[in-house]
Amino acid sequence: MPTPVIEKTVGDLTVVGYSLAGEETTVALPELNVCFDAGRAPREIIPIDTLCVTHGHMDHAAGIPYYLSQRSFIGTAPGTVVIHRQLVPHVETLMACWGRIEGHASPGRIIGVTDGDETPLRRNVVLRAFTVRHGAYALGFSVIERRHKLKSEYADRSGPQLVELKKQGIAIENTVEVPLVAYVGDTADGPHFDLDHVRNARLLIMECTFFDSDHVVRARAGKHIHVRDLRGILPRLRNPHILLTHVTRRTDIRAAKRILQNHVEPVDHERITFLMDRPPRKRDRTPGENGA
Ligand SMILES: [Zn+2]
Repeated sequence: MPTPVIEKTVGDLTVVGYSLAGEETTVALPELNVCFDAGRAPREIIPIDTLCVTHGHMDHAAGIPYYLSQRSFIGTAPGTVVIHRQLVPHVETLMACWGRIEGHASPGRIIGVTDGDETPLRRNVVLRAFTVRHGAYALGFSVIERRHKLKSEYADRSGPQLVELKKQGIAIENTVEVPLVAYVGDTADGPHFDLDHVRNARLLIMECTFFDSDHVVRARAGKHIHVRDLRGILPRLRNPHILLTHVTRRTDIRAAKRILQNHVEPVDHERITFLMDRPPRKRDRTPGENGA
């Protein structure tokens, strides 16, 4: 059965995705032509040209080969996968194995990155990787637009005068960074929430896996966020929109919403929403999301 992805509008962005701890997580932003995590590569993410994978856990990374293969199958340009550079050889080995199994290779560009590295997405828009706390090779990603603004001291100059200043090699503009989206993947609390491009992003997409009071130990063991952690995290964040992902199946989403209300300030209620804001399909077994 296909993944029942959710589509919703958050701020001025469309978000298409599915995220349940230990099962599958993928969050695509079609307007930015970028997808965070592969999940099991539902068909909705296949047209997205850049796939950023935060870490190697299967519920986030399993779809990489299928994403690349499907793009080849439907005749789309090869996809780009951005992942921690230590994982690149393993992904290449995986793709080579699939090539031998299928009898033909699926083309794709695998870009290895680490903390602070930038990958251009389009003119004046970059993807920046940053370290998060979820095992050795876990990264978050921000999409940052660079805008050029005329320095105030040149505001009264005419067009030809500005051209002349430029000809003289004078820097008449400042570059301003506008963080559009930050995605932290799976992570415990850490200094990444204090990065300007994370805490000021127009949309922050973050996990909050556990809500029940007896799940604190699980959260710590798996380096995940428990709703209690939000009291320490939210005051540092200036994001107008925060989208929560990766909620465990162990807690009903309706209960999670109630518990959230009790753990955050009223001022935060409006800016926080859940990606999966309705109960998921039932399944027989609760996956072990501790290590996922
Ligand atoms: Zn994980």
